[in-house]
Amino acid sequence: MQAYSQFSISQLEQELAELMRQYEVCKAKGLKLDMSRGKPNSRQLDLSDGLTATVGGDMGFGAENGQDCRNYGMMDGLREAKALFTEMLGVPVEQIIIGGNSSLNLMYDTIARAMLFGVPGSDKPWCKERRVKFICPTPGYDRHFAICQHFGIDMIAVDMTPAGPDMNRVSTLVRSDPAIKGIWCVPKYSNPTGYTCSRRTVERFAELRPAAQDFRIFWDNAYCVHGFRETDDELACLMDELKKEGKEDMAFIFASTSKVSYAGAGLAAVGASPANIDFLKKQMSFQTIGSNKVNQLMHARFFRDFDGIRAHMKKHAELVRPKFDLVLETLERELGGLGIADWTSPNGGYFISFNTPDNCAKRAVELCGEAGVVVTPAGSAYPYGIDPRDRNIRIAPTYPTMDELRQATELFCLCVRIAAVERFLTISV
Ligand code: PMP
Repeated sequence: MQAYSQFSISQLEQELAELMRQYEVCKAKGLKLDMSRGKPNSRQLDLSDGLTATVGGDMGFGAENGQDCRNYGMMDGLREAKALFTEMLGVPVEQIIIGGNSSLNLMYDTIARAMLFGVPGSDKPWCKERRVKFICPTPGYDRHFAICQHFGIDMIAVDMTPAGPDMNRVSTLVRSDPAIKGIWCVPKYSNPTGYTCSRRTVERFAELRPAAQDFRIFWDNAYCVHGFRETDDELACLMDELKKEGKEDMAFIFASTSKVSYAGAGLAAVGASPANIDFLKKQMSFQTIGSNKVNQLMHARFFRDFDGIRAHMKKHAELVRPKFDLVLETLERELGGLGIADWTSPNGGYFISFNTPDNCAKRAVELCGEAGVVVTPAGSAYPYGIDPRDRNIRIAPTYPTMDELRQATELFCLCVRIAAVERFLTISV
């Protein structure tokens, strides 16, 4: 296809008329489709339906240590459930706490406690500081940014590159500003770019020399086992690198089985240094007598070990890969060569990050919405919901069926084309 930049004004006008005609036809279909959130499809959830059959009846509710999981106790979780997470978090079982079903909840609580009480190494609670700032790699995960906004933590955007956050910028910022207490990072198959931190990036995280002595890396390894192609991105172990630098205390590491077992009823875990874990446990002991151990037992029995999780993720991959392929093929077919868009093509995770020409994303999302296709609001992947270039849109292919996805992606491409042509016409006038 010829690039739109080569079109004359009258060609652009003709193109817009034709695109609008197609758009009206689509609109008349009364579509009701949702590509907005990274949710597993019910066929993926079905893969874990054996979970509930692992307890009760003859199976009983006894943990490996003989304790009854239906009763109070074992606040930080079952050893066998922790063992499922050692590879994902990169720390031994002693340095893991199992939470409820949501790692986001653990991240929120970790920040809430830091605000109230500080972290090991703080001389006062973070809320007593004049200002608290976090570095936010962008585009990034909207809910991370929402936590910061909720606590009044200032956000500093740093570009996400195919090798991870721009570490030159990160190093300079943390070295020079003691108000910077943390950084978010989704190190593997990042939300929404699908990028994975290179080995050098992980090393550079460990080499950071923050001005704040109580600085923490919030390492959200949400997609650590979520490769869906033959080539799986490799992520170096942050804790190993931190140990080499004598900085074990500098990170909190999170993971969950939300996209392994059930998104609404899985297990979440946090791993950290012994000092950080002791600190968290003490605080948690005021909060709870323990999380849902029956669910922990079910997970430990169902998956058995990390190899069990890996094997299970291959089944997810079979369901997820065709959806990414469908979206990527459609984008290429409908938009390739027009010179108006670029997008990522990840080996895993839940998202594709898509860029329109500057100042077109909001309009494209609006057009999608008017025709019945919900996509994540433009700007969501940026602090305060503001994409300075108004060009980024997050595509989440997993939830719709293949047929819905085909229709939704075709409509999406049409809307991007309309937004781009409208923009070119405005600029040309
Ligand atoms: N982190 C990232 C990067 C995510 O994309 C998501 C889900 N979209 C979560 C955390 C939420 O995880 P959980 O279900 O464990 O709260």
